[in-house]
Amino acid sequence: MIPLVDLRAQYEAHREEFDAAMAEVLARTSFIGGPDHKAFAQEFADFCGGGSVALLGNGTDALELALVEKLGRGDGTAEIVTASHTFIATAEAIERAGYIPRLVDVDPATCLMDLEAAAAAVGPQTKAIVPVHLYGQMVDMGRVMEIAAAHGLAVIEDAAQAHAAAFDGAGPGTLSDGASFSFYPGKNLGAWGDGGAFFSKDADLAARVAKRADHGRSDKYLHEFSAQNSRLDGLQAGILRVKLRHLPAWTARRRAIAARYDDLLAGENRIARVAVDPRAEAVYHLYVVRVAERDRVLAALKEAGVGAGVHYPVPVHEQPAFRHLGYAPDALPETSRAAREVLSLPIYPEMGDEAVETVVERLRAALG
Ligand SMILES: *Cc1c(COP(=O)(O)O)cnc(C)c1O
Repeated sequence: MIPLVDLRAQYEAHREEFDAAMAEVLARTSFIGGPDHKAFAQEFADFCGGGSVALLGNGTDALELALVEKLGRGDGTAEIVTASHTFIATAEAIERAGYIPRLVDVDPATCLMDLEAAAAAVGPQTKAIVPVHLYGQMVDMGRVMEIAAAHGLAVIEDAAQAHAAAFDGAGPGTLSDGASFSFYPGKNLGAWGDGGAFFSKDADLAARVAKRADHGRSDKYLHEFSAQNSRLDGLQAGILRVKLRHLPAWTARRRAIAARYDDLLAGENRIARVAVDPRAEAVYHLYVVRVAERDRVLAALKEAGVGAGVHYPVPVHEQPAFRHLGYAPDALPETSRAAREVLSLPIYPEMGDEAVETVVERLRAALG
């Protein structure tokens, strides 16, 4: 069986480091806050290119609280432009912050938000753009910032799948108001539970997000405003510090696996590979291809012992949870087509070259 991701292989490969980090947190009983929490916030900020980081309980909260601090909590009338082809959390965070997700179509080549569609969707009620760096490929942030500047919009990037990615040499959050990250276990930088972060060049904004995630606290029992609790715990911070040290090597390995897939699939006309812009340094959170009869191919792969996946089978505008937004099922045709055709192949840093070849052989067989 070749799994989609293999977290056990990662643990086994670095067990001693992980166990030592965990033992230290246990010995100190620094379960909330503590030295690892502080150190990881600094180390992740440095990793993101220098700036400030707020650590939170998950990536969804990181996006929501960043929007709330940047724009103020909305009253449900103003809009934020984002992609429909994303994990539902993007739209949930926008709605929880008090804004209407204004969903736009994707570029069929990259499966990323169509930026000209995003520009066209901007109206008098638009307050912000939330670009989603899906599958580990960043959208063209230069273009996003042009659109934002032309209309006076805020920009918070959903970088949950894009730790260590770049576009034209700039990483998530370095050109915009900031970027939210997820440390869900299967993400490129994943904790052993839930976790998230908001990175920004704006130290004040990051500090306000951190405060909002910690009861609006200004001192142990002094609270500036009524907020909420969404903190990254000490164990997760300890584990993430270990993993951050390995992330450059893991990212390099993901790229090598993706390049191998690219080579092996070149000339296979039954498969369309999701395109990567030459200016993008993708980090391949997922390696995604498009096939006709996707569900049949997926079932055949499963039968053949390949743990492929689909990200995502139902776009936000077709979700029961967002029916109230009132989109017709065919409102975003490229998004709906992508949702029917995308297929994520196994990719994780510990995956060997042989496994990549086996996946491709079995995929060819599954295509029939
Ligand atoms: C994982 C993910 C999130 C949410 O992160 P959580 O930590 O699970 O809350 C948001 N957006 C995208 C694109 C994601 O992949």
